[in-house]
Amino acid sequence: MTVNVDVQSFPLFINGKWEHSSSQEMFDVFNPATGQLAARVAKGTEADVDRAVQAARLAFDQTEWKNMRPKDRSNILYAISYQIAAHAEELAYLEAISSGGTVRRIGNSDILQMVDLFQTLAKFTLEYPFSETLPVPPFPGPAHNFIWREPIGVCAAITPWNYPMVIACWKIAPALAMGNTIVVKPASYTPLSTLKLAEIISNVVPPGVINVVTGSGVEVGEALVRHPKVDKVAFTGSTEVGRRIMGLAAGTIKNTTLELGGKSPNIILEDADLSIALPGSLFGVFLHSGQFCESGTRLFVPDSIYDQAVQGLVALTSKLKLGNPLDTKTDMGPVISKKQKDTILSYIETGKQEGATLVCGGKEVQVPGCEEGHFIEPTIFTNVTNDMKIAQEEIFGPVLCVIRYSNVEEAICMANDTIYGLAAGVWTRDVNKAYDVVRKLQAGVVWINDWHMLRNDAPFGGYKQSGIGREMGKHSLDAYTQVKHVHTSMVPELERRNWYGILFGQNE
Ligand code: NAD
Repeated sequence: MTVNVDVQSFPLFINGKWEHSSSQEMFDVFNPATGQLAARVAKGTEADVDRAVQAARLAFDQTEWKNMRPKDRSNILYAISYQIAAHAEELAYLEAISSGGTVRRIGNSDILQMVDLFQTLAKFTLEYPFSETLPVPPFPGPAHNFIWREPIGVCAAITPWNYPMVIACWKIAPALAMGNTIVVKPASYTPLSTLKLAEIISNVVPPGVINVVTGSGVEVGEALVRHPKVDKVAFTGSTEVGRRIMGLAAGTIKNTTLELGGKSPNIILEDADLSIALPGSLFGVFLHSGQFCESGTRLFVPDSIYDQAVQGLVALTSKLKLGNPLDTKTDMGPVISKKQKDTILSYIETGKQEGATLVCGGKEVQVPGCEEGHFIEPTIFTNVTNDMKIAQEEIFGPVLCVIRYSNVEEAICMANDTIYGLAAGVWTRDVNKAYDVVRKLQAGVVWINDWHMLRNDAPFGGYKQSGIGREMGKHSLDAYTQVKHVHTSMVPELERRNWYGILFGQNE
């Protein structure tokens, strides 16, 4: 393995400054495409979590941050969006060398999404109903009643490695928009872009409003979830860890939102335009080497067009070019780590043993110039049945399961037969048929004739074990506020307060 000697070091980001970990220890972040050392990052501890939470607490409790006018905070969100645009190249580079996402995707999509997210929430912040007046109550007496929405306080954001920068922004943007402060714990494979983001955001927010503590999930993540001065936990990651976090958060009854795993069904109807449905379905599963939570990993195809569809899928898949994510010609980069590669390869073996037919891919690949990288061929299994392990468990790699069906109701039934409910899709030329299927699918987002199309003004989140709560859109602002009912009596005379007689009946 070649080691890059100019490797960057990243301390923790606490209270607007770079700070060493109390352990003084660092951990290595490797480039999954080359196996080379990409950076060294501070190994945070429970004491560092406490330091970051205290900074966030102070910024929330003892500064004017939470009381700023919506207009001023909206301007701050715009300023953050300009900062992201100004640092786009560096952010994209840090993201690519740690996550293995292609610069073509990060530069042309992720950065634009992040800029648009902060600008969308800047607009929503101006319109947000921070105070609503209720009509005069029918009984017991006249009063002014308001509903106020207030920030929750100190938020902890725990994020995964697959889509690190955008997912961090899904939490940071609404938290700041509503006047909270935040401590982010990024995944250890991919902390670089989040650390850089915190630095550039801190150019426009007061110290302590955004903090990042890097380190292990068990030490840093759990310390954040348990911390009594953290008011909310926003987690994106696996359902297994989500379950653990929900349990830990119960100790202090923390407001918790969870964005978890998926095994999303994609149904091609008989009348679909295959010239779009086939590339669209592959876009839905192989983008970022299948490492998106809402990837369409189970493809349901009717008997009548099954062979034709499989032939088309294999032909299109054979054109995908694996390579270094920094090369703009690369279609698919590596998977995140050797461990993840081994997990995916073991699922591929399981698929074979379960009796599915491997029609393309299935092996690891040596990419010239990236010999130490973790590449896997885009893989398609046919003759999969929905009860197989490869159709039920989240593989989180470039593996498509094609499942045959004979009527649409059967396809919908299999589509919903999973513990997950994050996303789903249907391909057809008939919009009425599409809506009928959409109504029956149990998923937080359903695409008709498309995939991966998320919008910053629309909510995203899961049904069933894919999560609790929604990110993005106006719903995300609600997730970072709590509601206070304020009652002001308009009855100054004791004698008119006849409802006090409920207690003082004998004095009447
Ligand atoms: P993961 O659950 O292993 O880790 C996610 C984060 O949690 C990391 O920062 C990790 O360090 C931390 N963590 C691990 N153990 C912890 C613990 N005991 N306490 C607190 N924090 C802990 O997930 P991953 O492997 O990084 O990401 C892949 C998973 O994320 C997949 O299951 C994928 O479906 C899911 N995901 C979901 C969405 C969504 O929006 N629903 C988006 C992206 C990824």
